[in-house]
Amino acid sequence: MAKILSSKAFINSKKLELKLRCEKIKVHNILPTLSVVLVGQNPASLSYVKNKKKFCLEIGADCQILELEQDIDPKKFLHYINQLNLNAQIHGIIIQLPLPWQLQSLDIRGLIIPEKDVDGFHPNNFGRMALGIPAFHPATPSGIMMLLDRYKINTDGKNCVVLGRSNIVGTPISILMSKKTNPGNATVTIAHSRTSNLKEICANADIIIAALGIPNFVKSDMVKNNAVIIDVGINKIEDHDSSKKYRLVGDVDFENVKHKVSAITPVPGGVGPMTITALLDNTWKAYSKTIK
Ligand code: NAD
Repeated sequence: MAKILSSKAFINSKKLELKLRCEKIKVHNILPTLSVVLVGQNPASLSYVKNKKKFCLEIGADCQILELEQDIDPKKFLHYINQLNLNAQIHGIIIQLPLPWQLQSLDIRGLIIPEKDVDGFHPNNFGRMALGIPAFHPATPSGIMMLLDRYKINTDGKNCVVLGRSNIVGTPISILMSKKTNPGNATVTIAHSRTSNLKEICANADIIIAALGIPNFVKSDMVKNNAVIIDVGINKIEDHDSSKKYRLVGDVDFENVKHKVSAITPVPGGVGPMTITALLDNTWKAYSKTIK
């Protein structure tokens, strides 16, 4: 039976660590502050923003939510982002996705100055990450690395297959896993929607990181005995037995895969909560630099 790589215990110790750091610096009268830009009232976005705020309050940091109307004009939107960039009381900024149609032609990756880009999307941060120079790393890949480290998963020299090549998960995690670091030092293959022999590629993997957004895509006949499975997917599927009428599942067929592998992350309770932890860790770093 696989070891379940839950993030619960780790989150609590990380929260405590961040809380103690925040308490120590109260003398400065400025708390580490994350600004979340929320456009419109998308229910999933509202829930993500609420979780971020809760996490901030729990560790004694500040979270300011800038709520903008759904039909905001792009010029006005850019003006607000610029104000946040200039505001010395704000240390980290994130723009909650998705954005409404009129803002989708903006390349948001370069809008937040690199010093406050705690999501690690700015080309400066992304490029520095690829070069192995200190930078803010994207939150989800960073959270995955923390989880691998916490559970002492040996990645050195292993075959790691990343399913998905998005800019926020697949591509950055493939870079981090291939770096000369621990965790890291893996031989990485990135698979995507145009990959032809996916089953064979997966069957050869010591580590699979699934980030496709397709419920239960990775089946037990695709994984090698004793592989390590990191499931990034968060998918809603219908569930009439649940009061909400849906439940969350990952990209991996957890129930059938767990019997075959040595370790697997659950959904929910695996990679998801690590993303907020990594985000607040980055906000702390951004804050520390300004204090120095
Ligand atoms: P995305 O839609 O941007 O990218 C999906 C990737 O999967 C693409 O690169 C595509 O090429 C690949 N893909 C699609 N079909 C495939 C197939 N049949 N075979 C191989 N590759 C295929 O998604 P994303 O933003 O990277 O998110 C992926 C999943 O991770 C989603 O479920 C999302 O909700 C979840 N997610 C979770 C967190 C978290 O905090 N845990 C954060 C971000 C995303």
